[in-house]
Amino acid sequence: MKCPVCGKGTLVRVDDIISELEGLAFVERGHRCPVCGEEFLDEADSKRTIKVARRLGIWGEPLKLQRKLSASGRGVVLRIPEDLRRSLRLKGTETVSLSKVGPRRVLLEVEATTTSGR
Ligand SMILES: [Zn+2]
Repeated sequence: MKCPVCGKGTLVRVDDIISELEGLAFVERGHRCPVCGEEFLDEADSKRTIKVARRLGIWGEPLKLQRKLSASGRGVVLRIPEDLRRSLRLKGTETVSLSKVGPRRVLLEVEATTTSGR
């Protein structure tokens, strides 16, 4: 199956997709694109996560799965989903600034595109 996001990669079966809700990590099965890294949850597994989260009372509105932040060294890394990356026209070489705009809200601004060696 071709990746519907980038159209280049062939999706591979994975069982280690992590969705995090309220500090709890849910491991789900699905497919991942080796080219762009986009992850696609199995419908059954995403339904299972929603069911468990509802039972635990941590499934809020709107119904939306959040991407997990990854720990990297002493910081955390947020992977920008492919659809967002595209609409922001990010190449991955940009400088961005983060400003805290609320107790649980951060604003990310793309400052400039730095030209890589190519
Ligand atoms: Zn892809």
